[in-house]
Amino acid sequence: SNTAKNKVHNFKVVLLGEGCVGKTSVIIRYVEERFDEKHVSTLQAAFKSKRLNLNGTRVNLSLWDTAGQERFHALGPIYYRDADGAVLLYDVTDEDSFTRVKNWVKELRTMLGHDICMCIVGNKVDLERSRVVAAEDAEQYAKSVGAKHYLTSAKLNKGIQELFSDLTQWMVEKA
Ligand code: GDP
Ligand code: MG
Repeated sequence: SNTAKNKVHNFKVVLLGEGCVGKTSVIIRYVEERFDEKHVSTLQAAFKSKRLNLNGTRVNLSLWDTAGQERFHALGPIYYRDADGAVLLYDVTDEDSFTRVKNWVKELRTMLGHDICMCIVGNKVDLERSRVVAAEDAEQYAKSVGAKHYLTSAKLNKGIQELFSDLTQWMVEKA
């Protein structure tokens, strides 16, 4: 209908994951279409916005990034509040970062008390030769918690568009 077409969905998406897995890089790649080799420890803003149009459905995504507080295990309730989606990142060359994802899943559930659209994302697939986390294991774990699994490279711009358009589609269906 017309009303459905005119509506703009506003979705909040939180990026979660251990320091250095590529949270900031994935956001910058998606929103600004570039990549930095340097670790950017903070963003000027708490979130970056991206507008998109999915077959006539207009969406405004707010992509929330941490300023490194994840190191102290201290992301307050404000970070999670009213989130519609979560992107839980790990680095495919770092087993510990995958273990941490499992903690974030539990934390999200405790913090929110309801289910949100969760995507578990193995980043840095360009470093194939150093890969330690098997895609099948991650896939299976994601399935067991009702999440979807993706593999990305912010460096080579692989899988990023697909990740965010699938997640957006999922949030639209759930809204
Ligand atoms: P954050 O702490 O999770 O926000 O991680 P950053 O986005 O700051 O990235 C940490 C480091 O990993 C930086 O040196 C990035 O350049 C690098 N990095 C991020 N994504 C990729 C990727 O897809 N491939 C490779 N090879 N390096 C990446
Ligand atoms: Mg960062």
